[in-house]
Amino acid sequence: DELISQIAAGEVVERPASVVRELVDNALDAGATQVTVRLLAGGVRLIAVEDDGAGILREELPMAFKRHATSKISSLTDLESVGTMGFRGEALAAINSIADCVIRSRATGQNNAYLLDGGSGELQPVARSTGTTVEVKELFFSTPARRKFLKTDATELAHCVEAVRRHALARPDVGFAIWHEGKLVEQWRRCEGRGPALAALEQRLADVLGAEFVARSVWVDFQSSTSPGRSDNTPSIRVWGRAGIPDAARARADQQFAYVNGRFVRDKVLSHAARSAYDDVLHGQRQPVFALYVEIDPTRVDVNVHPTKIEVRFRDSREVHQAVRHALEDALAAPRV
Ligand code: ADP
Ligand code: MG
Repeated sequence: DELISQIAAGEVVERPASVVRELVDNALDAGATQVTVRLLAGGVRLIAVEDDGAGILREELPMAFKRHATSKISSLTDLESVGTMGFRGEALAAINSIADCVIRSRATGQNNAYLLDGGSGELQPVARSTGTTVEVKELFFSTPARRKFLKTDATELAHCVEAVRRHALARPDVGFAIWHEGKLVEQWRRCEGRGPALAALEQRLADVLGAEFVARSVWVDFQSSTSPGRSDNTPSIRVWGRAGIPDAARARADQQFAYVNGRFVRDKVLSHAARSAYDDVLHGQRQPVFALYVEIDPTRVDVNVHPTKIEVRFRDSREVHQAVRHALEDALAAPRV
């Protein structure tokens, strides 16, 4: 079982940033409003992710590192419409097989917190407020071949920050902080209670991508309608967010953030649709930069395509392509001040 977990780890964990992503996913699934990431040596020596979410009950704690133990779905039908970031129950088991892991957690409404040692499986009482901290030390210590593939601490840190940035753009209602070697590297405050979702998103975009991005971008908000020719009552797709029209010199190709039902994805259908819209409206004079949120009936997208869940498969990629293309074309063609 240890070996199977290590093989799974090979698929899930490529570098420290992969661990950061999984741990932040879990914090968000637990309903955290504040997520703090602490790193040493680019995450190789230590990754600690602390949240103020629902925590884990003492009796459930020993399950956390067990393979295919997930508290998030209980049937295959749930898999059709998964609403959480995690659902495979693989990440912690995989990470625990290639690093020294410890969880500290206190569940909502409980008076006591417990520490679970991922190596020995021992439980002991500790003190902490409601929420969970997962610590991952000496990543790849038992698989030196993997460790050799890692880049410099600065590069690994940059990847870790990028992993948190992807979450931050999806969740303006959650605060994020990243520390490296005891220094605060990034801090994005939660933008809740400051008006509508759009205002919160605009604030978060300014914080994460810079005021320049917000100044040189337009709102996207598009709802596909059920086409008259279709009899199957296809649910509509909503595409919203902000699309940048930066000066050519300032365009950054790496500022393409696409989300499907709240999950960051890399997807050829989406990037091609964006490229087409920019080419149509701006005649290829601008690099597509955007934070785009696609909301689609969960049964029309399969998120269980890849262990890291960064790829998705649409049931009908044409309808998604059209929706994204139209959404961006409308936004980019609208008169601007
Ligand atoms: P998955 O997220 O796919 O369910 P994981 O291996 O990432 O699987 O996590 C295993 C289980 O541990 C989760 O289903 C959840 O019950 C629990 N867990 C992990 N991290 C946290 C956290 N930060 N807060 C609350 N529960 C957590
Ligand atoms: Mg998970």
